[in-house]
Amino acid sequence: MAEIVLDKVSKRFADGTEALHPTDLTIGDGEFFILVGPSGCGKSTLLNIIVGLTPPSSGDVRVGGETVTALDPKDRNMAMVFQSYAIYPHMTVRENIAFPLRLAKLGDAEIERRVSQAAELLELGELLGRRPADLSGGQRQRVAMGRAIVRRPAAFLLDEPLSNLDARLRLQTRGELARLHRRLGTTMVYVTHDQTEAMTLGQRVAVLRRGRVQQVGTPRELYRSPANLFVAGFLGAPPMNFLPAVLQDRRLRLPMGELDVPAAYQHTLGGQRRELIVGIRPEQLVDPGLDGADAWPKIDVPVDRVEWLGADQYVYADWPLDPTLRIRAAVDDLAALRRDRVGLVVRIASTHGVKAGGRLALAFDPNAISLFDAHGGERIVPPAD
Ligand code: ATP
Repeated sequence: MAEIVLDKVSKRFADGTEALHPTDLTIGDGEFFILVGPSGCGKSTLLNIIVGLTPPSSGDVRVGGETVTALDPKDRNMAMVFQSYAIYPHMTVRENIAFPLRLAKLGDAEIERRVSQAAELLELGELLGRRPADLSGGQRQRVAMGRAIVRRPAAFLLDEPLSNLDARLRLQTRGELARLHRRLGTTMVYVTHDQTEAMTLGQRVAVLRRGRVQQVGTPRELYRSPANLFVAGFLGAPPMNFLPAVLQDRRLRLPMGELDVPAAYQHTLGGQRRELIVGIRPEQLVDPGLDGADAWPKIDVPVDRVEWLGADQYVYADWPLDPTLRIRAAVDDLAALRRDRVGLVVRIASTHGVKAGGRLALAFDPNAISLFDAHGGERIVPPAD
């Protein structure tokens, strides 16, 4: 049983840096849990507190119901895998994988059994006699993983394990990790700054920012119902479009026109004037000819450039912002929200004949858009959400 519980855990470094504000988090037994956020948000600090490399300034860590806050890393039965593989160049793959078992003074037969098992699981059987210099980056990463697996830890803690690999190998190793987790069923806590890794690997994901957990949920929950502008903008590629909007007299004024307050929001939004940010994902802007789109609001935008990607294309629209929509968004998540222009990215089928310099007709489901408070940044949640 390796449920990991963080109970009001915080970290303030000696120089006064608040790396982690008091945090409560429960990572389920056997769960593949992701900590994601931009550089410096505190994700490695959180991982190091779990594994025991960094003592928390306050709070407790419990593993399987037992408080481990004061225990050394070696007494926590957790295996850490870093981006730098930390395997010994002078040892063969077999010796590298066996190393923690030799340290633990296991018998030769047991060591051989565990090493063979790990090698089979990681498809390293052919490579057991090689030295790290004669392995590819992906293979070295598998050796590091093998060394973690043989210890049969209660949990694996992985800190950006794929970031040294090239794009193709990253994709492949990602698949291998997911398969490994399915077969082992061991709790994995995985740190990354890459939203794609988070979305594709995580059963649940915690999004961190500036030492605070912004939201915890399944990738689907975070994508569909982001708690705030930061989460909405962080997950998804290309990212969600953010547009300034003014609510007045039950109408929503947007840079591309006006619409009635969508039915989904009618009970949540009052009648008084309010400044909002509208969020529309690139795939929510669709061809108006699409089935079901005939009753939706239509817009027509000037196309600045087009990126053709084979299966689909990203269309970037850009036009001057009506000065009356220059709202004073106090939210610093909106670096992308320019004050004088409107930018939109649309994901459409690659067969569409859109051209840079031309125009693009679009429609969107008004009930599917996200609305955020322009000043605090939190999402305005419709009652049915
Ligand atoms: P990255 O993706 O860049 O590794 P991260 O999200 O893992 O970032 P942390 O390494 O946890 O971030 O760091 C969180 C904050 O704490 C950062 O502002 C960092 O500069 C600071 N920090 C980390 N270690 C120390 C330390 N020993 N002393 C002082 N500040 C530190």
